[in-house]
Amino acid sequence: MYDLIIVGGGPAGLTSAIYACRAGLKTLVLEANACGGQIIVAADIENYPAAMHISGLDFAKRLEEQAEELGAEIEFDKVIAIEDKGETKLVRGEDNEYEAKTVIIATGTEPRKLALENEEELIGHGVSYCATCDGPLYKDKIVAVYGGGYSAVGEANYLSNIAKRVYIIHRRDEFRASAKMIEKLKAKDNVELILNSTITSLNADKNLKSITIESNGETKEIEVDALFVSIGRTPSTSAFKDIRTTEDGYIEGDQCRTNIPGVFVAGDCRVKDVRQLVTATADGAIAVNEVQKYLQK
Ligand code: NAP
Repeated sequence: MYDLIIVGGGPAGLTSAIYACRAGLKTLVLEANACGGQIIVAADIENYPAAMHISGLDFAKRLEEQAEELGAEIEFDKVIAIEDKGETKLVRGEDNEYEAKTVIIATGTEPRKLALENEEELIGHGVSYCATCDGPLYKDKIVAVYGGGYSAVGEANYLSNIAKRVYIIHRRDEFRASAKMIEKLKAKDNVELILNSTITSLNADKNLKSITIESNGETKEIEVDALFVSIGRTPSTSAFKDIRTTEDGYIEGDQCRTNIPGVFVAGDCRVKDVRQLVTATADGAIAVNEVQKYLQK
């Protein structure tokens, strides 16, 4: 029996593990894929105190090593449900079942999909949600980025150093990203901004060949080798049926406490105003403090 099971091995989950192990709690981290979460795609972290010029991947590796060195166990299993048995919690994974006195949910978010017909089949065949992961595959090719936020503009900028041509397609005429970032992008001679436009179809044989966009009632086909979809993220919380969430799936957790005693939440999947690395790690510390108070009762 564990004192604490942490679901998710991103910055919030691994920081929770660090604090829990230092507090002497027998701790298990369950991660579905690879530790690190969303931060592994960051080419360079610029806004985490005292961590200058470190890649997201290196940051994640160090976090994982630190948690393990302090005694955290890490298992790779996708959690599909948490059952509240009162004083214990049963955590069901795809491979195994686990039991603990407390649980922290730190599952983060996942990329929002386009919801177009053949989108799923084209993942890995021209459709991607991560420019830093897949961008290098499209050296000297034609690519498009869809979205108008910080991530989309950052990805277009990154891809402009790799691809021959980059289109950035956005549904409005105003970006969410800063004016400075937009100016930097506009200064690139291999980047074209396509505004007031939505993608209506993905045209492919086995691989993506082109996209159809609709602008002011007119449709147009653009040949591309890859499309990087960057239209925001949604919380990865659909497995947790009894946990109270907002309509869009973020877990309600003042002071990281959910509606179920003994179940806590940390990181980007929690209702909050600022979703950044620093707030994810801060949640880890707060959630473990709440776990300790709960266990002491
Ligand atoms: P975001 O800010 O939510 O932007 C999503 C973009 O996708 C918006 O431009 C939105 O259009 C568009 N969009 C949403 N749904 C769409 C749909 N169904 N079809 C077409 N377009 C759609 O997401 P993000 O860029 O991933 O950023 C997430 C958070 O992280 C934000 O709070 C952001 O500030 C933060 N962030 C910060 C930095 C930084 O350097 N400070 C870097 C990355 C992320 P509309 O604009 O029309 O709504």
